[in-house]
Order: sequence, then C-alpha cells, then structure tokens
Amino acid sequence: AHTLRLILGDQLNAQHSWLQQQDEGVLYVLAELHQETAYVQHHVQKVCAFFAAMGAFAEAIHQAGHRVLHLSLDDTAQYADLPTLLQALIKQYQVSQFEYQLPDEYRLRQQLSEMCQDLNINTQAYETQHFYLSEQEIMADFKVGHRHRMEAFYRKMRQRHQVLMNKGEPVGGKWNFDGQNQNKLKPDDFDKVPAPLLFATDVSDILARLTRHQVVTFGKVESRLLWPVTRRQAVQLLDFFCQTCLPWFGQFQDAMTGKLDDMLNQKQWSLFHSRISFALNCKMISPKQVIHRAIDEYDARPEQISIAQIEGFVRQILGWREFVRAIYWRNMPEYGELNALQASRQLPDWFWNGETDMLCLKRAISQSLDYAYAHHIQRLMVTGNFCLLAGIDPDEVDKWYLGVYIDAIEWVEMPNTRGMSQFADGGIVGSKAYAASGNYINKMSDYCGDCRYQVKQAVGDNACPFNALYWHFMVQHQTAFANNPRNKMVYANWRKKPVEQQQAILDQAEHWLGNLSQL
Ligand code: FAD
Ligand code: SF4
Repeated sequence: AHTLRLILGDQLNAQHSWLQQQDEGVLYVLAELHQETAYVQHHVQKVCAFFAAMGAFAEAIHQAGHRVLHLSLDDTAQYADLPTLLQALIKQYQVSQFEYQLPDEYRLRQQLSEMCQDLNINTQAYETQHFYLSEQEIMADFKVGHRHRMEAFYRKMRQRHQVLMNKGEPVGGKWNFDGQNQNKLKPDDFDKVPAPLLFATDVSDILARLTRHQVVTFGKVESRLLWPVTRRQAVQLLDFFCQTCLPWFGQFQDAMTGKLDDMLNQKQWSLFHSRISFALNCKMISPKQVIHRAIDEYDARPEQISIAQIEGFVRQILGWREFVRAIYWRNMPEYGELNALQASRQLPDWFWNGETDMLCLKRAISQSLDYAYAHHIQRLMVTGNFCLLAGIDPDEVDKWYLGVYIDAIEWVEMPNTRGMSQFADGGIVGSKAYAASGNYINKMSDYCGDCRYQVKQAVGDNACPFNALYWHFMVQHQTAFANNPRNKMVYANWRKKPVEQQQAILDQAEHWLGNLSQL
C-alpha cells in the first residue's frame, strides 16, 4: 500500500469523499484499542456498540471494494497506544502517505498531530464531512470564552442552510415553539407511547474479548445489543422515530414517567425520543439526512405533525448539537479545567448502582445503568441538577456522563455536562444555571407521588432534598447570580421567608450535604 488511512470508531461515515472511489493502493485501518476503552471507565453497552459498529463498517466498505484492515483487541494488545500501532503498520505495509480524519475529541487530535510531527512520511488530515459547520466556520464565527447564545446561532443556521424557511421567514411564523411544547405525560397519554424499536445484535464475541483483555466496564448488558450498529439499522430507527414518535416529540420532550414500565409488555423508557444520538455521533448517518427525513415526514403529514414538533426536533440537531461542538473546539483545552462555582464534593456511590431513596434519581440512574441511556431532561434536571445543587466536582460529573451514556463523546458530553448542566464554564454555553427544586421535577413527572420524600416540604427527615439544596445553592452563589434578571424573583421569594425558616432550610441543606451517600 502507498497510503494508510485511519478510520476511528466515531468516523463511520460511508458518504465520506475517501470512500467514493476504490484504490488498491489505499489501505483503510479500523482498530479496537485498549486506550479507547480506558481513558475513562465506560458502560459495557457503549464499548460493545462501538466495536460492533466498527466491525460492521469494516465489512461494509470491504464489500464495497476497498482494502480494509480490521484489527481486534487480540491484534492490537501488543501495542501500547494508537501511535505505536500506526507506526508499526506504516513500516509493515511500507506506507509512504498517512491520512486521517480530524478527530472530534481533543485528546485524539493532539495524539495524532504529535505523532505526525515525528513521522518521516507525508501526512494529511481531512474533515470528517459530517457536520453542518466546517472547522473554518467554527473559527470564524466563534470566539474563545465568549458567551455566544444558542438561539441566535440557531436562527443563523436555519437561514444559512435554508431549513424550515419560507421566503426568508421561519415556517410557522415563529422561531421558537417551546411555549406549546414541554407538557407533562398524563395517564390519558400513555397509550400514545409506542414500544421502542430495539435491535438484537449478537455481541458475545466482543464480550469475550473484553474479558480476555481485562477491559473494565460497568452497567448491564445482554449478549444481544439493542442499539443500531449499522447504517441500515440507523435508518430503520430514524424511520420508526419519524413515523411513530415525531407527532408527539416536542410536546412531551421534557416529560418523565415511572409508571409505564409496568403497563406495557415491552418496557418503555425512551418515550418519544429518537435514540438516534449514537448513530449520529458515530456518523453512521448525517445530521442533514436526519433533518431532511424528519421534514419530509412533516410535509407529508401536516394533520398529525405540527410545526412545534418538527421545529423542536430540528432545534436539537441543527442548533444545540452544532453549537456545543463549536463551543468545545473554540475553548479546549482550557474548557476541561473550568470550575466557576468551585464545586469539590465527591459523587455519591449510588450514582454507580442506583441505590437511593430519591425516586427520580433512582429511576434516571437505574435506567442509565440498564440501557446506557437517559433522555435530555433526566440528564439535565434530575442527575445534573442534583450534582449542581450538591456542588459535585465537575471532573467527577464529567467522568460519570462520559462513561455511562451510549452517545457520550467528549465534544458533546463536556459542554452539556460541565457547561449547560454544571455551570462550571460560568455561562459560556447557557445564560443561567439549570438549578431547580423538587417542584420542577414534580411538574414534569409522576415520580414524586411514589417517593419516600415529600416534594412539598423543605425541612425535616422526609423533606425532598432538592428543596433545601436548591435554596442553599442559590444563597451560596447569590453574589454571582443576583445580577441575572431571570433570578430576581427567586431572591425576592427567599427574602420573604422569615429568618428562622431561612436558617432551618440552610441547616437542613448542610445536613444533606454532609450525608449525600445516605440519601
Ligand atoms: P432526542 O431527544 O431524540 O434528540 C434528537 C437529537 O438531538 C439527539 O440524538 C442529539 O443528537 C441532538 N441533541 C439533543 N439535545 C442535544 C444537546 N443538548 N447537545 C447536543 N445534541 C443534542 N448528547 C450526546 O450526544 N452525547 C452526550 O454525551 C451528551 N451528554 C449530555 C449530558 C448532559 C448533562 C445533558 C444535559 C445532555 C447531554 N446530551 C448529550 C444531549 C442530549 O441529552 C442527548 O443528545 C439526547 O438525550 C440523546 O437522546 P436521543 O437521541 O433520544 O435525543
Ligand atoms: Fe425526586 Fe424529591 Fe420528587 Fe422524590 S420528592 S421524586 S426526591 S423530586
């Protein structure tokens, strides 16, 4: 071979220009690597999904006539890391040119660019050709440390890419339909919720390899994996979402329920969410493809799918997903060290087993351990909110999120976790900390009625811990937060409380903070 081309586990893009013509002189490499299983401890389904998807992709491009080397953990175990492996392959195959796609993760981008400086052959890096925004656009449109706002960015993206636009105006006459969305799911709505479409890929070989190479993971797995690991499965899942979930997507995107598990034959844990994030983040399908498919469905079924539903979905992918990526690349590596609220407590052990009496947390964590998945509001307003209020060290929080979720890759995990959810970036991603008392969880879910804690109480052994922790957090950061007009009401309400009540709430919070592991 004269050229070696590396394809990483999250670069499974069959539409990439590389793969549009066959060339006997090009050897593609996909490799299972110990270093990728070990930079953080991962959920076992996440490792299985990546390895299964890489295997399927290697097979698919081989079938399409490309020369492919697919290396398993058995083959790569003797190499200390990715550069060592690549250097050995370059020698073995007498390669004169090394090419790679720019990794989306800072750690890997550094590792490869450092390796290339030491190589004495030609090297070239390509874009992944997956995102709406190019690397140059990120550099041109975003500034380091600047508080860019998602809403303004999103409107520009709608215009620039002509998505849901009509003669220069947003379809439906408005940019944002959040007011019509975000309802609670009531028992009357339960029969709208479909059983999720699940796959059943045999991963027993991969599991055996993980054992053989002592890869340490956590979480539950069956020998059959329910996540899409081929492009075809990803498209099936996208079709399923558009046909059965999109009509309700926006309306119930923030809803949480613990009641459905027992009522349906097949456990229902993802409501009207697409569960397309793993397929997207591995680049098996592109954001353009997802958005076009969903808009086609909306165009074809105007009676069933309102603008509020499709706009809510497009906003997540064209808006949030591209936005957090730009924030990440503009602010790394410093971003990974930010800790604006100086949070330093340890994550309670029950994050790793779900054993807490706080029912909302128990549900969100157990589901994450069972399926490597929780939807956005579970991540933001249940687990994330708890860590924010309890002042957990953002390094610990990042480590948990980066390990547990099927879709967790640092470029998207970190701005969401450290930024949006923990406010450790001081407001680069979001304009305000997403802090909430038990009242919010009660409004969006049916958990509280079955919980041992009382959501209406702030003080006492049976009071919902979110309440006192919320006030404690807001009081502790008053100097930083009081200037934000969106917090005015909060502090006015606090000041209205009698001093003894304020003191009782703060004491209660101190008690919880000293006993987080017992909650
Ligand atoms: P849906 O609700 O069906 O949304 C559709 C798609 O929109 C998603 O697949 C995703 O690609 C995109 N999207 C939605 N919200 C966001 C967002 N805030 N940022 C980026 N993309 C978004 N998403 C990840 O892909 N990887 C992560 O590691 C990750 N970590 C998160 C950590 C925290 C603390 C929070 C609050 C959110 C995180 N998210 C992450 C964003 C979001 O929660 C997930 O993308 C979503 O839950 C995936 O499930 P879904 O495919 O069913 O999403
Ligand atoms: Fe969660 Fe509090 Fe409701 Fe219990 S009462 S489910 S801890 S919000």
